[in-house]
Amino acid sequence: MDTPILSPETLALHTGIHRSEANEMSEGMYLTQGYAYESAEQARDAFAGDIDIYMYSRYANPTVTAFEERLAAIEGAERCFATSTGMSAVFVALGSILGSGDRLVAAKALFGSTLQTFTNFFEKWGIQIDYVDGNSAEEWETALATPAKVVFIESPTNPMQDVLDIPFIASLAHSAGAMLIVDNVFATPLGQKPLELGADAVVYSATKHIDGQGRVLGGAILGTDEYVYGPVRQMVRNMGATISPFNAWVLLKGLETLGVRVRAQAASALDLASWLEHHPKIDSLRYPLLPSHPHYERAVKQMTLGGTLVTVDLFVGEGVDRAGAEAQAAAFRFMNGLSLFTVSNNLGDAKSISTHPATSTHNKLSVEERAAVDIYETTVRLSIGLENVEDLRRDLDHALSLV
Ligand SMILES: *Cc1c(COP(=O)(O)O)cnc(C)c1O
Repeated sequence: MDTPILSPETLALHTGIHRSEANEMSEGMYLTQGYAYESAEQARDAFAGDIDIYMYSRYANPTVTAFEERLAAIEGAERCFATSTGMSAVFVALGSILGSGDRLVAAKALFGSTLQTFTNFFEKWGIQIDYVDGNSAEEWETALATPAKVVFIESPTNPMQDVLDIPFIASLAHSAGAMLIVDNVFATPLGQKPLELGADAVVYSATKHIDGQGRVLGGAILGTDEYVYGPVRQMVRNMGATISPFNAWVLLKGLETLGVRVRAQAASALDLASWLEHHPKIDSLRYPLLPSHPHYERAVKQMTLGGTLVTVDLFVGEGVDRAGAEAQAAAFRFMNGLSLFTVSNNLGDAKSISTHPATSTHNKLSVEERAAVDIYETTVRLSIGLENVEDLRRDLDHALSLV
C-alpha cells in the first residue's frame, strides 16, 4: 500500500510522538538540563560521537525534538531546528553561513530587530549588505547580477503586506550562487510554503501564530539536512540560543490547533477586510487575498490563506496631513475606542490586537522613510483574533465613528 499523503493538520497531531513507558496521551515535557549515562563507557562513546543519545539540553532535548519533528512535517522540510526566539532564528539562519567578505542581499522591508542586527552587527563583522525594494523586479535583477551568499526576504511584509515574488527571487538568487531564506511569519506554515516556491530555508518566530496565545517566545529554522543539521545546529549548540523545553512543549501543543485557529482568524480577517474597505472612515487597506491588493494575483498563486492581519489607513478628513499630529490623534482615538482589540505589538494571537506602526514598530524611521514604505500616522495594523466576527465588526464600527 502507498504511504498516505497526510495534510498538515493531521501531521500536526500525529508526528513527533515518542511515548515513554507510561504511554501518556499528551506528549511528555522533559524539563531537564541533562541526562544520565548508563556507564562511563557510554559517556565516553557519546562524547566521541560514536553513539547518538541525549547528552545536554543545550544540544538536544526530547520535547524540543518533538516540536522540531512536528513543525518539519507540517512545513514539508527535511529538518527543523528550534531556537529561543524568532530573532535568534533569523540571527542563526544567516550568521551561521555568512562570514567576513560575504554578500547578503535583503529586501528593504524588514522586521525592526532584523534590520538592527544587520546594521549593528553583521556590517561590523564585514558582511556586505545590499538592500533592494522587494517589489521591484529591476532592482532584484540588478542586485543579483553580482554573486551573493544569501538572499533574505519577508513576505508578506510588515506592516504593509507587500507580497514578494518568491519563485522569481529564488531563481535569481540561485543564479547568483545564493540561497534564499524566507521569514514566513506573516503567512504562517499553513498559508504559504516557501520551500515549494523555490526558497532554500524558512524561519519563524513561533511566538506569533504557532503559540498563538501570547504565552512563550520561540523560533525555528527549516531547510535541508545539510544546512539545518550542519551550520545551523552547530551554531545554536555552541552559542546557546536554545529553546527551553517548557516553551517547546507549549509550541508543540500550539501546533495541534494551528490549523483551526489560523483558518478561523484568516476567514474573519478576509470578512472584516472586505467590509472595512468600503467603510467611509477607511481610506484604503491591505489584505493579500482581496482583489484590491496591488499584488493580489501573486498572492493567489503563492498563498492559500491571506493571513490574520489587516492593515488599514484611516480617512481622517480632507486636507489633513496624514503624517501630522491631528492624524495621530485620530488614529489614537480609533485604537483607544476599540474594546476587543488590545493595543499591543504581538500578532497572530487568539485575542485581537491593534498596533500603530509609526509610533511603535517603525518609530526609528524618519517621517520620509516611513512615507517611502506607505506608513503614516493614519496606518493601523489589526491582528484578527478568534472572537466572534460580528462582535469584532461592531467594535470596529464604533471605534471608527470616533475617528
Ligand atoms: C516577531 C517577528 C520576528 C521576531 O520574533 P521574536 O520571537 O519576537 O524574536 C521576526 N520576524 C517577524 C516577521 C516577526 O513578526
